[in-house]
Amino acid sequence: MYINRVNTKILPVEFKYFAPKTVSEAASILNRYGEEVRILAGGTDLLVKVKQRLIEPKYILNVKGIEELRFIEDRSGEIGVGAATKLSELVGSEIIKEKLPVLHEAAEAVGSVQIRNMGTIGGNLCNASPASDLAPPLLVLNTSVKAYSSSGERVIPLEKFFLGPGETVLKPDELLVEIKIPCPPEGTGMSFLKVARTSMDLAKANVAVAIKLDGNTVKLCRIAMGSVAPTPIRLFQTEKILLGSEFTDGKIERAVQTASEEIKPITDIRSTAEYRREVSKVLVRRALKKAYERVKEGEING
Ligand SMILES: Cc1cc2nc3c(=O)[nH]c(=O)nc-3n(C[C@H](O)[C@H](O)[C@H](O)COP(=O)(O)OP(=O)(O)OC[C@H]3O[C@@H](n4cnc5c(N)ncnc54)[C@H](O)[C@@H]3O)c2cc1C
Repeated sequence: MYINRVNTKILPVEFKYFAPKTVSEAASILNRYGEEVRILAGGTDLLVKVKQRLIEPKYILNVKGIEELRFIEDRSGEIGVGAATKLSELVGSEIIKEKLPVLHEAAEAVGSVQIRNMGTIGGNLCNASPASDLAPPLLVLNTSVKAYSSSGERVIPLEKFFLGPGETVLKPDELLVEIKIPCPPEGTGMSFLKVARTSMDLAKANVAVAIKLDGNTVKLCRIAMGSVAPTPIRLFQTEKILLGSEFTDGKIERAVQTASEEIKPITDIRSTAEYRREVSKVLVRRALKKAYERVKEGEING
C-alpha cells in the first residue's frame, strides 16, 4: 500500500487522546498503555512525525495542561525548570538570562517565535535530536533530569540521558518532569554558537562553552557540541587540553584541533561530515574566545 510520507498537514492516523491535569494521572496512563502511548508537549517534533506517518501512536498523552510541569525556580545553587516549560518562557525568564545566559542564548536560537511559543524544554531533550540546541548548554551546566513513573522517580545526569538519535534512557512508563541545573560558580564565562542553513533550521553544528579562570589559568572548562555525533556530546579530551593551563592562543589552537578529532560527524541533509569538522574548529575557537571575553568583562564590571 502507498503511504504518503510527505508532511500532509493533517493527522492521518486515529488515536485516543488524553489530557490529564496532574503528573500522577499522566503516570497512571503511561503505566496502563506503556509503549503504545506517545507524550505530546508542544508537538513541534511529535506531530511532524505523525503527519509523515513515521510514527502511528494508538494513544496520545498531552502534558501541556499539567500546571505542575511549568515552572522556573531559583533554589539557591540550583535552577529547577519544569519539563513542559515553553522555550519562549525560558527566553523571557530573568532568572535564566541572569544565571544561565548560555541557556538563554540557546533557547533564543531555536526555530522561530511560533516554534518557541509551542516547543518545550522537555520535548527538546526527549526528542533526542543530535542537533538539539538546548542539549549542549545543559551539558556544560552539568544538568540532571528527573523522571517520574507510577513506581517512583529517579534523577539521571544529562550526560547519561541520550542513547542515540531519537533514543533516551527513559522507560515507556516514565515522564520527564524536571530539569535540574546547578548554577555555575561565580565568574564563569559562557557562550553558545550555532551554524545552520537558515535561522529557522536545526544546527549543522552547535557548541556551548563554560570556562572559569584564576588569573589567566583555566580552572573550569566544559565544552559540548551538537550535530557532530549520534548524540549531543561533551568534548572531554578538548577540555583536558585547556584545564590547568594558561589561556593562550597556542592552547586554543591545540584545543580546536583536538575538538575536530574528538567529534564523529556524518553527512546528512543539513551538511557534510567534512564541513561539520571544519566549522566545528571555527565554532570552538569563537566560543572559547567569547566565553573568555565574558569572564574578563565580569572581572571589570563585577
Ligand atoms: C520549523 C521547526 C524548526 C525547529 N528548529 C529547531 C531549532 O532551531 N533547534 C532545536 O533544537 N529544535 C528545533 N526544532 C525542534 C523542536 O521545535 C524542539 O525540539 C522543541 O523543543 C520540541 O519540544 P516540543 O514540546 O514541541 O516536543 P514534542 O514534539 O511535544 O515532543 C518531542 C518528543 O519528546 C517526547 N516528550 C515530550 N515531553 C516529554 C516529557 N515530559 N516526558 C517524556 N517524553 C516527552 C515526545 O513524546 C516526543 O517523542 C524545530 C522544529 C520545527 C518544526
